Amino acid sequence: MTTPNRQPSHLFYQTRRRRPMLDQARGVYMWDVDGKRYLDGSSGAMVCNIGHSNERVLEAMRRQMVKSTFGYRLHFETEPAERLAAKTASLCPGGLNKVFFVSGGSEAVESAIKLARQWAIAVGEPQRYKVISRYPSYHGSSLGALALTGYAPMTAPFDPMMRAMPKIPAPRAYLDGLDPTKEGTGHHYANMLEERILQEGPETVLGFIVEPVGGASTGALVPPTGYMARIREICDRHGILLIHDEVMTGGGRTGRFWGAEHWGVAPDILVISKGFAAGYAPLGAMVAHDRVVEPVLDKGGFIHGYTYAGNPLACAAGLAVVEEIETQGLMANAERMGNELKRRLKGLMDRYDFIGDVRGSGLLLAFELVADRRTMAPLPKGLNAFDRLVELAYERGLIIYSRRTRGGLEGDHFLVCPPMIVEESHLDEIMAALTAALDEVAGEIKA
Ligand code: PLP
Repeated sequence: MTTPNRQPSHLFYQTRRRRPMLDQARGVYMWDVDGKRYLDGSSGAMVCNIGHSNERVLEAMRRQMVKSTFGYRLHFETEPAERLAAKTASLCPGGLNKVFFVSGGSEAVESAIKLARQWAIAVGEPQRYKVISRYPSYHGSSLGALALTGYAPMTAPFDPMMRAMPKIPAPRAYLDGLDPTKEGTGHHYANMLEERILQEGPETVLGFIVEPVGGASTGALVPPTGYMARIREICDRHGILLIHDEVMTGGGRTGRFWGAEHWGVAPDILVISKGFAAGYAPLGAMVAHDRVVEPVLDKGGFIHGYTYAGNPLACAAGLAVVEEIETQGLMANAERMGNELKRRLKGLMDRYDFIGDVRGSGLLLAFELVADRRTMAPLPKGLNAFDRLVELAYERGLIIYSRRTRGGLEGDHFLVCPPMIVEESHLDEIMAALTAALDEVAGEIKA
């Protein structure tokens, strides 16, 4: 049993809850100052994809650190930013080749919608300003990105401060009793985008933003067959920019560098963050096609920017992370270990009838708790078992990530997303701790 840190603190985050003090982290493990070991089964918040304290990255950062740690973009170019931009462009689908660095996912999304808006003005279509997104979804916490986020508990207090943006349902085929492997299912959900565009007036719609594989919002929702391609067609038909939010999927976690690579679809703009520098430094990027960027630069420039954009230390870390992913074959490992972990999580459905669904791609995996698997009714509001599962796993030294999107606030899913360096023995540990925690809460859920 761990002792929560009860020291008075001047820090605050979302709640008063205090966690043990972190001492060190290496590979898939983290240790608190009492020496207790944790398996990082969610890579933080799906961030530390290559594991902790990777020597290649630390060495690249040390080398950069003694040269320079900051160069303001109006005064200098920096080599790490140039090299990482070139590397990123070389990995991008569809010829996306202009990279704009930021420090995190919200900043990347904010940058994408502001570039899109300026593109519309530059090409003589200033009436386009609406960005359609999905419910549920998560695109960030700054007010622009939050306006696109489909998650009422996080958005409601700020509604009066934001311009309402149209939302369509995310394709949760598993709740609607539809077969996700059928193309008709993908088209059914994608067509909702076209209906909404027509309803809003196509000439007013600027973009559509989508997480290729859902993150915390939907619990690793994989789109049904045909969905991503049909979405692309619809955007093209109406001259709308397609934005892929690859903040969580970018960087190899799904087994491909970009989540959307599974469907061979390229967006007009994409955003990446979390796994990009894998927690070694705050880093994100918005990458766009020339045809979007050039008109904006021609018409006087992109009116947007952040002080820390292209920070050389963060970019040096990012470059080393991407090289590590490639040279160590981590995407193939994510696919292999992800398939095995998914198989084992699915096996839990035989033991616990309150696990309603197991889903995901590569090592972006989730399972959902329900009151009744037949109806997929969510757990009753206020049932403590949900929070208890996370805590019981934590006590057993396993970190998993949870989000209530249906039950308590709306359904209850848990993301199991260990670093892409995991081996079978780590999966054994994850499953042992998880099963013990599930055994303990089973009684409460059934009661
Ligand atoms: N977009 C997606 C898909 C995310 O998962 C997140 C964070 O969880 C964000 C955007 C926001 O990123 P950040 O928390 O780095 O601002």
